[in-house]
Amino acid sequence: MPHLSVFLVCTVSSSSLWLASYAVAYVPDDPWSVTASGVASAPGTPVTLTWSIAPDGTNIPGEGGSNVVSYFDDLFNVTSSSDDLTDRPWFTLLEQSFERWSELGGIEFIYEPNDNGSQLQNSNGVLGTLGDVRLGGTFVDGASSTLAYATLPNSGDIVFDTGETSFYSNSSNNYLQLRNTLMHEIGHAIGLQHVESSNSALLLEPFISTAFDGPQLDDIRGIQGLYGDSLEKTNGGLGNNSANTATDLGTRAAGSSLSVGGDATGTQFVAATETDFVSITDADDADFFSFTLSSPSILGATLTPLGGVFNQGVEGGSQSSFDANSRNDLSLALFGPDGNTLLELADLSGAGQTELLSEIRLSTVGEYFVRVAGDTDAVQLYELDLSVVAATTSLAGDFDADGDVDGQDFLAWQRNSAFTVADLANWQDHFGLASLGSLASVPEPTAGNLFGLATLTLLLYRRPRECGVSKYQRDQD
Ligand SMILES: [Zn+2]
Repeated sequence: MPHLSVFLVCTVSSSSLWLASYAVAYVPDDPWSVTASGVASAPGTPVTLTWSIAPDGTNIPGEGGSNVVSYFDDLFNVTSSSDDLTDRPWFTLLEQSFERWSELGGIEFIYEPNDNGSQLQNSNGVLGTLGDVRLGGTFVDGASSTLAYATLPNSGDIVFDTGETSFYSNSSNNYLQLRNTLMHEIGHAIGLQHVESSNSALLLEPFISTAFDGPQLDDIRGIQGLYGDSLEKTNGGLGNNSANTATDLGTRAAGSSLSVGGDATGTQFVAATETDFVSITDADDADFFSFTLSSPSILGATLTPLGGVFNQGVEGGSQSSFDANSRNDLSLALFGPDGNTLLELADLSGAGQTELLSEIRLSTVGEYFVRVAGDTDAVQLYELDLSVVAATTSLAGDFDADGDVDGQDFLAWQRNSAFTVADLANWQDHFGLASLGSLASVPEPTAGNLFGLATLTLLLYRRPRECGVSKYQRDQD
């Protein structure tokens, strides 16, 4: 039975009544708006946060001087008195705790080696001077209920109860008691309050658990709801919100499949090794992914909203079932190589339902873009699955493998020296035919394009032998 001790949040900036209506199921406070690295532009966008360790003697309001460095040194039998705390065996555990949160959402935690010892909970982070999130420690209540407490943004400071004796030096599972305590407090420091669940175990519950390691699924929804997913930190903080900054999924060979966000499947339990979590944060968020096809292919894409169904409530309140799968009605769109031309859109199902793009024939090689978007200001975890199979055609003359024989195939014949005069004869024989059950080709021609294509096609059809096409002439030599 794990040592049950209450965590405290000593600053609550909002009334509990308002918070109760705002539980989703994690209980968000305001995200960071001003950090040592700059001004956070808006909720749902990523931030960089520095963290530092307050030197012993730093004043903690209402408590006195911090003693966290000598406390951890004693617990870990450190004899060094170096100012470089990164040499300490316990430093690695602190760093791992911050880095775990960095893996899971739109926050980049960076260790700030300087801390000028100004009063805790009363100072903004300054690069080269002190961190945004600062760690201190003091005797709170000894080896009993309180383990640590933290303040919410933009304070975000954490105080360990250095009256604890053996709790933090328990080395089981790489000092899980210390790490889960710190990761819980970091949750407060980034703007998450307590949540309770009667049928799931979450990191932001008020009582410590060592049944898991680090943030659980609803806790991950919390960081992503406040700061976006980890991909929002890419492209210098622009994220993957446009085709220009799409997350590159590489060349997708025929027969390959790929999944993004798959670690969010299943229950609220998240293993410490899982890092693949993506989400749409609000109605303005869009996630773009790009992939490249090197041969005509048939694409399948599935978008599945995730998050799970579990009981939840605010601390000390009543609990109810919460469906995190249906927070936001997601859509799935496919764009052509220019990143702008919409080829297909799947937006038929409601929130909580899967969107599908089935058997999309892509006969043009090159780069394509998939966009995931929502229509509501609510965070929605999702999994995106892409599969690619080779496009084959049994229709002679269908050089671009789009299921019919038309003017586009003549252009394909012109551009590829592998095609022969015999191929052109097949094209002439089969012009205007479509294979049975042929799949939609892309891009979908508009009425205007169809007219232009028909005109062009007639011209080409009648005059290939005199039209001066270089390839055709070369083949006749
Ligand atoms: Zn707490």
